[in-house]
Amino acid sequence: MVEDYPKTLFELERRFASEKACREYLGQLRWPDGFVCPRCQGGWAWMASRGRLVCQECRHQASVTAGTIFQDTRTPLPVWFRAVWYVTSQKNGTSAANIQRILGLRSYQTAWTLLHKLRRAMIRPGRDKLHGHVEVDETFVDAEDSQGLWVSRQAVVVIAAEEDGRGIGRIRLGRIPSPTKDVLHDFALATIEPGSFVHTDGRKAWEGLKKLGYRHKQTILLRKKDLNAASRLLPRVHRVASLLKRWLLGTHQGAVEPAHLDYYLDEFTFRFNRRTSRSRGKLFYRLLQQAVEIPPTTYRQMIGGKTPEE
Ligand SMILES: [Zn+2]
Repeated sequence: MVEDYPKTLFELERRFASEKACREYLGQLRWPDGFVCPRCQGGWAWMASRGRLVCQECRHQASVTAGTIFQDTRTPLPVWFRAVWYVTSQKNGTSAANIQRILGLRSYQTAWTLLHKLRRAMIRPGRDKLHGHVEVDETFVDAEDSQGLWVSRQAVVVIAAEEDGRGIGRIRLGRIPSPTKDVLHDFALATIEPGSFVHTDGRKAWEGLKKLGYRHKQTILLRKKDLNAASRLLPRVHRVASLLKRWLLGTHQGAVEPAHLDYYLDEFTFRFNRRTSRSRGKLFYRLLQQAVEIPPTTYRQMIGGKTPEE
């Protein structure tokens, strides 16, 4: 399928004014090679009322939105599409309060839920791992609890950043319970292609990466508390860490609850890895494409900070 997306807000508004237009677009994203019945694998269906597809073979009723983040939503799809546009068209994204205001949503909770559902679509299932030369280090991120009190316990976030000349290629972030050997090694395996050149600090927990199939360069700081030296050693992860903290404080005023931090990390990664994309419309396309690939989450599940599999 040719990547087909609106290029301006005007185009978006004109093209996706109706529920039907949005459903057809989602249908093309979900079945780029044509409809396939989830029950009998039949390839023919007709469109019934309320956007349902009826399989010609087995009469199974499928819906474009069933099994996606749009399942059972009470928010009209044109509103969703506008939210996706605002989320992807602004460099730093947007807060729930902002989305509520821009889209004229009645409740803050609706705006919040919508944004959190979209965040879950920001990481593509089965995405590629980083490769080449990769810097890895951990950092501490402040999180706030729901009463607005600073929690004393900071979250530990591991950052992996590809070297791209003197610049940064793609990144991966992961919140971890603590920087122990098992946890750090699991992070490496989940995010970095074996055979890659991994550059870390002298932390003992990083030892043994070679056994996992990596080439490993460890740089040891002589004076442990020398932070400037640390950022010179692994300049890319330190740059990403400071951008991440600034983004959490700026766009979200630091109002990130620990239980949801993972999803903010996903959003940051989505934005960062596409920061040079000239076409915002392409991000719109990408996010909707991923949104029909991942299973739905309810508000209740999100409040628990959990995904359906957990
Ligand atoms: Zn069927």
